[in-house]
Amino acid sequence: MTTSLKAALKTHFGFENFRSKLQEDVVKAVVRRDRDVFVCMPTGAGKSLCYQLPAVLAEGITLVISPLIALIQDQVDHLKSLNIPACSINSKLPAGERRLILADLGSSSPKLKLLYITPEMVASPSFQPCLTDLCTRGLLSYLAVDEAHCVSQWGHDFRPDYLKLGGLRTRLPGVPCLALTATAPKKVQEDISESLKLSSPLSFVTPVFRSNLHYDVIFREMLPNPYVHLYAFVRKSLALDAGSNAQGCGIVYCRTREGCETVAYQLTKLGVLAKAYHAGLKAGDRTEVQHEWMQGKVLVIVATISFGMGVDKANVRFVAHWNLAKSLASYYQESGRAGRDGLPSSCRTYYSPKDKEQLNFLIRQEIGRRQEKRGSAKETDKAGITDFEAMVSDSPRNVASPENLAAAAAAAGAASLSCPDTSLSLHLPTSCRHATISKFFGDKTPNCAGACDYCRNPKGVRAQLEKAAALSTK
Ligand code: ADP
Ligand code: MG
Ligand code: ZN
Repeated sequence: MTTSLKAALKTHFGFENFRSKLQEDVVKAVVRRDRDVFVCMPTGAGKSLCYQLPAVLAEGITLVISPLIALIQDQVDHLKSLNIPACSINSKLPAGERRLILADLGSSSPKLKLLYITPEMVASPSFQPCLTDLCTRGLLSYLAVDEAHCVSQWGHDFRPDYLKLGGLRTRLPGVPCLALTATAPKKVQEDISESLKLSSPLSFVTPVFRSNLHYDVIFREMLPNPYVHLYAFVRKSLALDAGSNAQGCGIVYCRTREGCETVAYQLTKLGVLAKAYHAGLKAGDRTEVQHEWMQGKVLVIVATISFGMGVDKANVRFVAHWNLAKSLASYYQESGRAGRDGLPSSCRTYYSPKDKEQLNFLIRQEIGRRQEKRGSAKETDKAGITDFEAMVSDSPRNVASPENLAAAAAAAGAASLSCPDTSLSLHLPTSCRHATISKFFGDKTPNCAGACDYCRNPKGVRAQLEKAAALSTK
């Protein structure tokens, strides 16, 4: 089967090989058609192919749900350019074209292979009969739900219309379902399974652990000159002293625009060209900075989190957090932009207790504002806090009270980045930082093998903490 799948991959998509073992395994599982399938792979890993190739090989039509017309249009255009019959029915489609598509779908052997629709369309009364008809005639080969995290209120991109998909599922008995997403902490995964009524799905999840990323934490306030420290880190990460031509580059994340400007200025002054990127710049300037960085003309981009979405650069040698990320999930995503090429890369946090208190305050303020607007509190409001606690609380039950946080900050030198459901912590020296991250996402404990400062030098990490604690009680 492997050879015929590979041949089809080449014939229809022009690829010599699967992108990864995981991609191949998913396709194999999907074409068996005997189980629902759940796929969680990072952006750019090639999730679309996981249903597109099976769709091409199947007898009937694959129904694809995707949240945005723009995303759908890209995919449909791409498939058409490969001569794969694909189209989309959406609210913007002229009536004439729509009639043509429906006619094809109603015919005894439709030509269409992939039909993309938005979740709003799913419930449309004009379209329902067509779907049920296809299903009764056995012409629906798969239901693929892309960006499946949109069903979850715990996710970052909840779309109420996705909740209608459960109903759709029930109306299409016997059609195997494939759910795909790039982000799925345990809670979101459970929501997806439940909402889409996946029945004991086969799960394919890219392991959280990335052995080429080295994590460490430096206490910013204990440094005589933090900028000089950062500068040394940049030089080392980019191997500038080794006279390396291997053009690596890096990202420094700051919370504020002023922070970006200051860090960029300081690094440049010290001798490495760095530019700021934030929402305060004109759109044109922002694009230019990003472009220069992509081309390697600017080695370091100093950015707010508005930078990074959809940026796919292979040779990012370091990601430094000058300020704390707002959650462990965000931290994982932001730091994960390092080392996409698989080569060793560094992820460093410059930790500061003041920073932690400030961020805690901001998150609570934001939640308060949302509640005020709504006039009520919601279960999911807690998600923001819990996710932040996962970064910075230092005991399993130290959840949700600002007093607690402040006290913990003072007591422990505010050193923790720990998961609420475990006693592991990312910043307290009780265990491996990779392990904490894996555990947060519900993955098994990885073999870090010295890819974090704790595993490399637990004593050193502990000493740093004790020193910080001593300083903060003075
Ligand atoms: P995702 O949805 O996981 O973010 P996409 O499906 O958009 O990723 O694919 C990302 C890119 O990878 C696309 O340009 C796609 O053509 C490419 N790609 C997918 N599979 C392969 C493969 N087997 N070999 C080479 N490129 C691939
Ligand atoms: Mg995708
Ligand atoms: Zn470790």
